[in-house]
Amino acid sequence: MEIKITLTDSPRQKPADQSKLGFGNYYTDHMFLMNYDEGQGWHDARIVPYGPISLDPAAMCLHYGQEVFEGLKAYRCADGKIQLFRPDKNMARLNVSNERLCIPQIDEAFAVEAVKTLVNVDKEWIPTEEGTSLYIRPFIFAVDPHVGVHPAHHLIFCIILSPVGAYYPEGLAPVKIYVEQNYVRAVKGGMGFTKTAGNYAASLKAQDEADKLGYTQVLWLDGVERKYIEEVGTMNVFFAFENEIVTPALQGSILSGITRMSSIEMLRDMGYTVNERRLSIDEVYEAYNNGTLKEVFGTGTAAVISPVGQLKWGDNIMTINNGEIGEISQKLYDNLTGIQWGKIEDKFGWTVEVK
Ligand SMILES: *Cc1c(COP(=O)(O)O)cnc(C)c1O
Repeated sequence: MEIKITLTDSPRQKPADQSKLGFGNYYTDHMFLMNYDEGQGWHDARIVPYGPISLDPAAMCLHYGQEVFEGLKAYRCADGKIQLFRPDKNMARLNVSNERLCIPQIDEAFAVEAVKTLVNVDKEWIPTEEGTSLYIRPFIFAVDPHVGVHPAHHLIFCIILSPVGAYYPEGLAPVKIYVEQNYVRAVKGGMGFTKTAGNYAASLKAQDEADKLGYTQVLWLDGVERKYIEEVGTMNVFFAFENEIVTPALQGSILSGITRMSSIEMLRDMGYTVNERRLSIDEVYEAYNNGTLKEVFGTGTAAVISPVGQLKWGDNIMTINNGEIGEISQKLYDNLTGIQWGKIEDKFGWTVEVK
């Protein structure tokens, strides 16, 4: 399918101070759109000036949340080259989400092409300062003007771009995490393994309460026993014990993060033993008391690697690695971002150049 490009005739001012980008505050000059209509399939792939989308007030996404999304980044290397990190994995996961939410499958290779074409059109928006990148948000939503519950027959696939700095104001500094005991995010059989708006809607209340107590994110426990560790807000989570690094196994209620899968591979390559298994909060607390819990860190595209300096579980406060960045988190961060920004050789073949 051809992508029709209509360039804006009024380009906007780019953010002047790259050290103050924050996350999700600015959008570029263009966006990608494509429509799905039953009988016709996906059609009319186009890049147009960034701007509001007009929707019927009865559009189904507004009522029943039939929406899926992805998140990846474009990185500007020192030599000017532009790279994506494993974009094929994002589009494969988008189709996993689509399947669960009764959204028609997309052509994954074409969706990667769409990302590349859009990034290329707005490449001047990719920030250049250390640690900055262009966040890419593909998303699909149902637009049938119908207040009745059924899978949509009409949808829009959109991609927008946002120049970003660090996700957390803390940067690579350790964050404080609140172990959530009251609310749950997802259960097996639900939508926890998909990237969909509803999972986030379900998480806002807990996030807000944790925020008011001075915590950056919540750590979710499983929705049935409230015992096994799941993930952290927008990140998967890893626990480094004396003899193994553990991350919760994918069992349907947590997201299969691309940073997670890359970290597992990279840590193993660095010589660590990494196990994907069930891990209870009691086991973590016991290891903490025995002095065998060395490091905790989150992984995700937005935050990359985020060391955890403190975990609050009920009345128990666990201060991890003296609240400092640990050796494993630091090495993983350096190696992963080294590949993403083209500073070290990509021996895994994870990066894709945008030209
Ligand atoms: C996106 C996301 C992650 C991280 O996935 P990456 O592919 O590494 O960016 C983790 N958990 C949730 C709930 C997410 O939405």
